[in-house]
Amino acid sequence: MSVARAGKAVCPYCGVGCVLTSTVEGNAVKRIRADPADAPNFGMMCPKGALAGEVFSDPDRLTRPLIRREKGGPLEPATWEQAIVRVADALAEAPADRVAWYGSGQLDTEASYAFTKLFKGLLGCNHTDTNSRLCMSSAVAGYTQAFGSDGPPGCYADIEEADTFLILGANMAANHPVLFNRVRRRRVVEPDARIVVVDPRRTRTAAHADHHLAVAPGGDVPLLRFLARALVDAGEIDAAAFAAATDGGAAWLDRLAAEDPDDLARRSGVPRAQLDAAAETLFGGRKLMSLYCMGANQSAQGTLKNRELIHLSLLLGQLGRPGCGPFSLTGQPNAMGGREVGYLAHQLPGYRLVAESADREAMERFWGTVRGSISPEPGRAAVEMFKAAAAGATDVLWVACTNPVASLPDAERTREALRRTPLVVVQDVTAASETVAYADVVLPACQWGEKAGTMTNSERLVVRSDRFLEAPGACRPDWWIVASVGHAIEERRGDAAGRFAWASHEDVWDEFRRTTTGRPCDLAGMTNERLRAGPLQWPCPDPGHPGTARRYAGGRVLTASSKPRTAGETQETAARSAAICDAADAAFPLVLTTGRVASQWHSRTKTRHVAVLDAQEGGPFFEVHPDDAAAAGVTHGDRAAVVGRRGRAEATVRVSDEARPGCVFSPFHWADSAGPLANVNQLTSDAVDPASQQPELKACAVRIEKVEEA
Ligand code: SF4
Repeated sequence: MSVARAGKAVCPYCGVGCVLTSTVEGNAVKRIRADPADAPNFGMMCPKGALAGEVFSDPDRLTRPLIRREKGGPLEPATWEQAIVRVADALAEAPADRVAWYGSGQLDTEASYAFTKLFKGLLGCNHTDTNSRLCMSSAVAGYTQAFGSDGPPGCYADIEEADTFLILGANMAANHPVLFNRVRRRRVVEPDARIVVVDPRRTRTAAHADHHLAVAPGGDVPLLRFLARALVDAGEIDAAAFAAATDGGAAWLDRLAAEDPDDLARRSGVPRAQLDAAAETLFGGRKLMSLYCMGANQSAQGTLKNRELIHLSLLLGQLGRPGCGPFSLTGQPNAMGGREVGYLAHQLPGYRLVAESADREAMERFWGTVRGSISPEPGRAAVEMFKAAAAGATDVLWVACTNPVASLPDAERTREALRRTPLVVVQDVTAASETVAYADVVLPACQWGEKAGTMTNSERLVVRSDRFLEAPGACRPDWWIVASVGHAIEERRGDAAGRFAWASHEDVWDEFRRTTTGRPCDLAGMTNERLRAGPLQWPCPDPGHPGTARRYAGGRVLTASSKPRTAGETQETAARSAAICDAADAAFPLVLTTGRVASQWHSRTKTRHVAVLDAQEGGPFFEVHPDDAAAAGVTHGDRAAVVGRRGRAEATVRVSDEARPGCVFSPFHWADSAGPLANVNQLTSDAVDPASQQPELKACAVRIEKVEEA
């Protein structure tokens, strides 16, 4: 009889980053629990986490490499050597400008670093980007512009000290449930605590709000400026202190003073009286914690939304104080770690930038590559990467741990990009991904529990996960796959540097943490030995450092002047025009927003076979207000098409007064249920925020048409 043992690992789903303890017998998970001693969840988990062991019995599991000998032919079993040689040869032979990598915030830090080193270091190609571009890049830009560094100022423990929660564009009850439990518990402990929710829909989160502001799509910036203006008008702000403590604060206050509060309210789409009442929750020296996610970020004006949220904390003089501050929630378990390794198209490890010569030279020295080998040009961000591939500009596209056919905007162009690229490599754990169908080489990877590795959650907490299961078949850790390709390319070139000669994930981590020495995200003090003993928050510059829960004490940040920067007039003007990037008109009178439901995860590659979760939602749907349903001639339960400027998608109508009139909501999880027509990203726009390159997934113009059953 086998002996039960336990392994701890980060939950493979959301950015809360709960640590789950799995009891294992033989090679099977028998039970998952959350240990009260383990940060960051201290005994809590949600149903997705509790059922995360079911992914190990995925009937679609990839277990061996597959190769298509020619386009259009069948995928056939191959050895690792054959697969690696095929990929390495293609990458080595193609010009650096014609290869690309598209990854994921679900990859661990070791894999993310290995990919960054392979593409930017060895191949000299900056066309590396990930689905974090769809998720977090506006938060990256917002923090970096305001504070001179990415990463949140505060931590989860601020929830237990805050008085007012401003939750904008985040359905935390569905998508960050363990963290939202802490918000709800705060109000039990402190009855005077208040929750303000800004969301067009009356979500599960909004149901707990003292003030639900059903903002119009594109109305967040005016709404946030209204709140700022209300603080000023109520005499809650020390204007001189704000101007002295910030760069550009005086001019920003002048522009705010020129705004008409009634006009701001009109543009926000929220009645003035509701805004006035919500603004009062910020008065009287209360501690404001803003929590925000995709509704802020997935927008053609996402960076400015982030800046306006940051402005509120700066106006109140609360930056760096417990219970206060702007806190961007990450969607995926390692979206933060990927930012640290610099996998986005404009980044290098340690929050360095490819555009900065000193940063490039530092990494060229560190990696032992030729001076000038890293291109100074930022690579193509996600949308541009697939646009370029669809136009025939790419020879090799390597997709790892994500399903762009389902999740990128304008799905038909994504499919064209994959059809047109001569070699598509897909590295994943499951064939239940619409992207696998386009692969010429399939590389089977280990999933959580089958590999050890490191992730950083939303609060900068770095957690090492155990390996507690044998991986099936020929599956390998992601970092190993990348290292094998890197080694094969070096051999082809006769390069004996051995840059990928890592024996374990700990070797990769040890190398990566040293790249961050002296950087804002300093992880140098997080040795393998320390991470084996427990998690740590960065900055953690040396092995004796305890880690850092809160940054920016005294309001001093990492800009040249040490003062936070306010947004400029040019950015505000650009954001106003971006707000109408795909405007409604007579032909397309409604606005579609996309999002998530509690029981599913991304494109359902992990959750579609978890029966309990899959049963909670019946399939893809369009949520519409009763007035809009009546106008379109559809009723609850009808099959309908939502038609937009780029395509159409069919799903079931859900009539609900939780929808804002004029808006249609649809989750993006289903790209498979009724063929490609169920994919809501058939409709979405490729407009992006100019500062962050994050696509606008929260507003595209559509109409509803009833589909007559045959
Ligand atoms: Fe996993 Fe997020 Fe649920 Fe925690 S809250 S158990 S990280 S899905």
